[in-house]
Amino acid sequence: MVFGFGSSPFLSDPRKYADKHYDYVIIGGGTAGSVLASRLSEDANVSVCVLEAGGDPSGIIETKVPAAFGKLFKGANDWDYETEEEPEVGGRRMQLPRGKMLGGSSSMNAMMYQRCPPSDLNEWEERYGCTGWGDASLRPYFKRSQLFTMRPERPTIDLSHHSLDGDGTWQVGYSWLSKPGEAFIDACDASGVPANPDVNDGKHPIGATRFQTFIDQKGQRSSAFTAYLPASVTSRSNLTIAINAHVTRILLEGAEPVATGAEFQLKRDGPRHRVYANKEVILCGGAYNSPQTMLLSGLGPAEELKKHNIPLVKDMPDVGKNLYDHVCTSGLYGRTSSSAHSLDYLTSDLKSLPALIRWLATGGGPMTTNVGEAAAFARMADFDSKVEDHGSLGFGPDIEFIHTPLCFRDHGATTTPAGHPGTISIAVIGLRPLSKGSVTLRSNSVFDKAVIRHNYWTEPNDRRVLIAGVRKGLEIFHNAAFDPYVDRSYVNDDEDSFYWPVSSSNYKAITDEQIIRWMHKNSFTLYHPVGSLRMGVDDKAVLDLQLRVRGVKNLRVCDASIMPQQIACHPTATIIAIAEKTADIIRGKVAVNDDATRHTSIGNGAPVAQSSRL
Ligand SMILES: Cc1cc2nc3c(=O)[nH]c(=O)nc-3n(C[C@H](O)[C@H](O)[C@H](O)COP(=O)(O)OP(=O)(O)OC[C@H]3O[C@@H](n4cnc5c(N)ncnc54)[C@H](O)[C@@H]3O)c2cc1C
Repeated sequence: MVFGFGSSPFLSDPRKYADKHYDYVIIGGGTAGSVLASRLSEDANVSVCVLEAGGDPSGIIETKVPAAFGKLFKGANDWDYETEEEPEVGGRRMQLPRGKMLGGSSSMNAMMYQRCPPSDLNEWEERYGCTGWGDASLRPYFKRSQLFTMRPERPTIDLSHHSLDGDGTWQVGYSWLSKPGEAFIDACDASGVPANPDVNDGKHPIGATRFQTFIDQKGQRSSAFTAYLPASVTSRSNLTIAINAHVTRILLEGAEPVATGAEFQLKRDGPRHRVYANKEVILCGGAYNSPQTMLLSGLGPAEELKKHNIPLVKDMPDVGKNLYDHVCTSGLYGRTSSSAHSLDYLTSDLKSLPALIRWLATGGGPMTTNVGEAAAFARMADFDSKVEDHGSLGFGPDIEFIHTPLCFRDHGATTTPAGHPGTISIAVIGLRPLSKGSVTLRSNSVFDKAVIRHNYWTEPNDRRVLIAGVRKGLEIFHNAAFDPYVDRSYVNDDEDSFYWPVSSSNYKAITDEQIIRWMHKNSFTLYHPVGSLRMGVDDKAVLDLQLRVRGVKNLRVCDASIMPQQIACHPTATIIAIAEKTADIIRGKVAVNDDATRHTSIGNGAPVAQSSRL
């Protein structure tokens, strides 16, 4: 649904901005790209041009209503990728939504705000040599980016870890909090995953919590676009933002390649246009598209480029490798004892109308649910000796349980079957996979989707973590705290039925083989690809520690692809912090390599006290 909100300040006619020189050309106005465009153009003497393939989300209501993000999938604002046949997931091709609009995936995601566990970032320093990117180095940027609003009815948290009055524009607070979410926290607590009022306090990333979300005072999504590119920024005369501009390649010159600009098309077979960079080209296309753009530009494995008739600029065998994701086993779905215990009605346009009217009138109500309202983070090796511990530095979580107050299945496409009162769920997610995938080319055109292989579960421990996680999730669901909400009389042992395995007559007797079969049929991505152009100090790293492409001058990458390894959290806050820091590196406000202090002691992930309740 598109609402008219006046004329767009974004340029779609290349005659207005092509063939010009700018100091910085940013490819992709997504999460990281919006931050960089905003920060770099703060200096009126610097000119910035953003080339974004998608459009302007300002008039698209589904980008504003928190509960509506799933309605963007497979539409004009979704790149709508899928994996190749995944060998260990029954050969399925799995859907991979990505935001194609200003704000990128932050304009269509589930709005869960989460800081990276400190030990994950410290591991970047200690294990991968990425000095300058540890927790102590990024901590100020998490705080700087955020503008936090406490809700009076929430339990007290230590607000010194949040920014209440800084110059942060990214609004963080709480969305709708359904009652079964409290039962989820109690059930986790009783099952050995202690309640934790704030996993974002920079100390305790483990425990069960109500999610903080990126939501503004009007009950609308606060994306990287709305936070970093408001009218006060887009009206800057030194900032040019072009939409519908698909970058076909980075312009590179010389035997020692130097990036001099970018070439783009508005559509397949349309004319090619160019913009030029006096200082730098900054690639912010995300973990799938940034490696695709590098490859299309002749920066990648020589063999692959030859296959697609792309002139080789520099043989870089590791471009597009090291791709990680978070995979979810699907929800464990519970049949509620009453329709009043589920927000399922929000999935129907007709039934959700009163809630939508309430949201339009007040900015409040159930339409502000971000679907994943509560979650618990744990370490499966604490519960199952068959699981190897790959949590960061021996402290970080490796499993997440997300509680949803409604049916979210097949990316929201499948709703509760007729005849049942309603559904609530617990989804199980492996946070520290060892399995790696890749991004390669399908053709030499940016208009052909890249070939994406995640190779989920090709490392056996990844599956083991999830099997143990499913067992723990079932234990949580069967805890008495959920009794007021879940229909305990409903039993169904058919593995193919909607509510199995929660509906099993004896969930403790379910075998690993049954869980694996169920996972193969139902699992899906949790939308967190990272690492495909990783930074590091070893020969295989694509980027140096200032995120510059090694061996290429004036070309930098800043987005999810720069991470050396998967992080055990929802990544938007970390990507925004990385982009804030990158802006400071570019502006000479901070030097990487000499500001790093190792702080392994703060990442201890110790469970919070049992008495610490939400
Ligand atoms: C459905 C969904 C739910 C999610 N839920 C959460 C959540 O609750 N919490 C959380 O923290 N994270 C969540 N994530 C993940 C998070 O949103 C992403 O990891 C993050 O936004 C990625 O940021 P990025 O800057 O790397 O890429 P993006 O934000 O995807 O930006 C890339 C931009 O580059 C543009 N682009 C790409 N190629 C080209 C080209 N050739 N030319 C021009 N422009 C181009 C794209 O259109 C896009 O705007 C979710 C993601 C999705 C898709």
